[in-house]
Amino acid sequence: MDYFPLFFKLDGRKALLVGGGDVALRKARLLCRAGAQVDLLAEQSLPEVTALCKQSGGQLLVQPWSEAAVNLNEYVLVVAATDDEAVNQELSVLCQQRNLPVNVVDNPELCTVITPAIIDRSPLMIAVASGGQAPVLARKVKSLIETLIPGSYGKLAQFAAGFRDRIKQGVPDMELRRRFWENCLTGDIAEKVLAGNEEQAEQQLLADLAQQKVERGGEVYLVGAGPGDPDLLTFKALRLMQKAEVVLYDRLVTQPILDMVRKDADFIYVGKQRAEHAVPQKRINEMLLEYAQQGKRVLRLKGGDPFIFGRGAEEIELLSEHNVAFQVVPGITAASGCASYAGIPLTHRDFSQSVRFITGHVKDGVLDFRWKEFVEDSQTLVFYMGLTGLAQICSKLIEHGKDAQTPAALVERGTQPDQRVHLGCLENLQQIVEEKEVHAPTLLIIGGVVSLANKLAWYQSSAE
Ligand code: SAH
Repeated sequence: MDYFPLFFKLDGRKALLVGGGDVALRKARLLCRAGAQVDLLAEQSLPEVTALCKQSGGQLLVQPWSEAAVNLNEYVLVVAATDDEAVNQELSVLCQQRNLPVNVVDNPELCTVITPAIIDRSPLMIAVASGGQAPVLARKVKSLIETLIPGSYGKLAQFAAGFRDRIKQGVPDMELRRRFWENCLTGDIAEKVLAGNEEQAEQQLLADLAQQKVERGGEVYLVGAGPGDPDLLTFKALRLMQKAEVVLYDRLVTQPILDMVRKDADFIYVGKQRAEHAVPQKRINEMLLEYAQQGKRVLRLKGGDPFIFGRGAEEIELLSEHNVAFQVVPGITAASGCASYAGIPLTHRDFSQSVRFITGHVKDGVLDFRWKEFVEDSQTLVFYMGLTGLAQICSKLIEHGKDAQTPAALVERGTQPDQRVHLGCLENLQQIVEEKEVHAPTLLIIGGVVSLANKLAWYQSSAE
């Protein structure tokens, strides 16, 4: 994060605007909307700028910029909107010497504060900034958000503000209060406000408050987070990620996905630490139960799909025995994600009529399979957790009659920005991989379909 976002209370405080042209006009409008008293220093200024500053109670200083012209210590914010580089530069330095926030229009290097694009639904305010790096993109995002959030949301925020104190008294417990608000702001009450029917909305809110209508029960959301690219989350996953109060996650869940979970949730890491001490499965199951029984909404966030080599069933069995509510949200499993992003169709009329998902986890140094079943030609084999056992998998398949030239791919960090795809065949894949520094997680795909990767690969990773 290059900038710390915050909202600045300017109401009744003094700001200095230097410059009186079109750019200054934009800034003057904003400063005045925020209630600032704006002093204007400019040799010449547009009549509208002058009028705005006058209305705000500010002084008009019709003169060229000089340090002696103003007492900078009087201001809480300075905005330089001149086209004179030297003036902008000098103002920036003087302000920085005083730790006075300064914004130099269209010159991020001279700024200590920047102004974002805003979506104003006062008192609800949404700001979008790109740190001056991509203003056009920021404006594009702003217009997208504009279309998503009806103008009437301002009304909703005002309505909510009017009941803050009463709800605070009526529902003193913070967690329950937050739920009460969520119900109000996403359900019927909000719909009524948005439809302009504030009276009915108020009646319902007061009735709900009198009855203390708050969902109290805990619940567990067992959610598949997919293979790493946050765009591959489902809408349902995202919605529950925004609702959860406690999150238990493991190693496969990537940071960009964690960033999409509600910020004030408690995050608990239960995956393997560097020293390989994972929280034991039994303990994870118990933790889910304990938090839910405390009335919390618990998100169990797992890589890929929770029901594919994810021990998802074990985690909800205990909940089911204790009658704790839960939901399971499927995710894109590594096989689908890696195959798509490597350009390998898992089935294809000419190569493969079925797919097997196999765990390649090596127990006590051996892989115990009915290998004969795997050597049929018309199938695709996908090994999860197959890196350690790679050499063994390939040689066993050859030993049981699979062609040594069968195409094979190891997809490393599939769907992630640094995805790498190592292509070879049963005979040489181990050697190809040994020559590279490979990072977990990796997925092994074997079968004729792998030969299509050369033609169908489309994903531009930063690692290749
Ligand atoms: N429930 C998960 C699988 C968990 S087992 C799912 O449905 O995807 C963990 C294994 O999944 C890893 O050892 C690796 O083989 C595979 N895996 C998960 N994410 C992956 C990724 N982004 N790239 C490659 N393999 C991945």
